[in-house]
Amino acid sequence: MRAEGRNSPADILLTVDAGNIWRAAEAGLLQPIDSEALTARIPENMRAADGSWYAFSQRARMIFYAKDRVENPPETYEALADPQYKGMICARSSSNIYMQSLLASVVSHAGQDAATDWAKGLHDNLARKPQGGDTDQLRGLISGECDIALANSYYFARALRKPVKGLSDGIDAIGWVFPNQDDRGAHVNISGGGVAANAPNRENAIRFLEYLASDSAQAYFSAGNDEFPVVEGATLSDETAALGAFEADGLNVSELGEHQKEAQIIYDRVGYP
Ligand code: FE
Repeated sequence: MRAEGRNSPADILLTVDAGNIWRAAEAGLLQPIDSEALTARIPENMRAADGSWYAFSQRARMIFYAKDRVENPPETYEALADPQYKGMICARSSSNIYMQSLLASVVSHAGQDAATDWAKGLHDNLARKPQGGDTDQLRGLISGECDIALANSYYFARALRKPVKGLSDGIDAIGWVFPNQDDRGAHVNISGGGVAANAPNRENAIRFLEYLASDSAQAYFSAGNDEFPVVEGATLSDETAALGAFEADGLNVSELGEHQKEAQIIYDRVGYP
């Protein structure tokens, strides 16, 4: 879209992770819109203040663990840095935007120094060098390489819904924790998007985004990507409902984009690959 500039035929950009959407907005690829329906239906912390983007579904970054090997799973992100979990945790590389957004949320809540200590503690507790995607972290619980794994909720829900190699068979051995339920809530990120800066069909683009926030589209969209709806009261798929209700971090997801660069610097500083 950036290369196409004013000639871009795109009406809408839909993507995942607030960091990506934030970068697109910063790059001038999106335009602010004013929609009463979207403002009323999408929670305030899940949309840009200027109407340049909106969340349409949300995922939690969760702690998963091997039930037969972990008696006291970590209940918070902070606990992942506790020496009692040394050599037990599998997590992705710091180049992955999910890891950057998670650390960005720690920076936002606790500041850079605490975030640096946390990243160092997590690195010290890794079971192996960060590798693979979120599904690979979950597979590690079944193969025995990992006792504890960090992954987004929809990777687990998807493996409940349909066969995922190396995961669905044996998934009963995996337990899960929505972190920080006694304080700020679980770190959530979004799938979302906005109207393209040079949208040839601006009005229809707005109508389409409004449709995505309708009850029926919320149920359809979130059942398709195994995420949670963002509109309150929208119907959950059986698999996401099976994960149970949880408290989500109410942080404005724009913060994740704003602190992403600091997060990468912190990972580099502590030698987290
Ligand atoms: Fe993903």
